[in-house]
Amino acid sequence: MRVLVVEDDDRVAAALRTALARYGMDVDRLATGRDVLDHLPAADVVLLDLGLPDVDGLEVCRSIREAGETPVIVVSARGRVDERIVGLHHGADDYLVKPYDVGELVARIHAVRRRRGPAAGPPPTPARDLGGGVVLDRARHVLTVEGGEVALSRKEFAVLALLADADGAVCTRDHLVAEVWGRRWPGADRTLDVHVATLRTKLGRPGLVATVRGVGYRLVPDGREGG
Ligand code: CA
Repeated sequence: MRVLVVEDDDRVAAALRTALARYGMDVDRLATGRDVLDHLPAADVVLLDLGLPDVDGLEVCRSIREAGETPVIVVSARGRVDERIVGLHHGADDYLVKPYDVGELVARIHAVRRRRGPAAGPPPTPARDLGGGVVLDRARHVLTVEGGEVALSRKEFAVLALLADADGAVCTRDHLVAEVWGRRWPGADRTLDVHVATLRTKLGRPGLVATVRGVGYRLVPDGREGG
């Protein structure tokens, strides 16, 4: 799960990054509202502070909703009921008042993700042995390495599933980005690389996902080729 935190307070943002990491969530942080749309494709959920220094948080919220289906949880220091209603009218999926409990935030994140539905991608198929003790179980959305469960973000899981479907053939960058993120944007290649790098670290099998220079990635079950 990758959470885009839009928060101008450095202290709050740093605390959130640490707290959410304990729940297996990766945080991208923006201190202002103007670049949010550029970072949206890599985000599973947006946590949006309404009190931003550059733009009106409610306008940011509305533009996120116009751009797509990424769930938005609005955060505000002010808890007035009318503001909450305004936030929801601007397309927010949920609303939290500062200060809030991290456990509650995590529960809300999972809830808005469930409401927005599962990741786009191929239909579930039976668990598959990818080699090297790595088993991908799409029906349960679980990856195990040597029998131990490994927590992957939605998009990391989708990238791995596409590579598995290709049976060792190359998946081009364009294909992976189009299938997992639904569209291309200027930072797409970099975002894909970051997801693959995280995937390799989490798998503990660096050779399993091989780079095909200038083309894309492919799975190498015995992990001895490529790299
Ligand atoms: Ca603020």
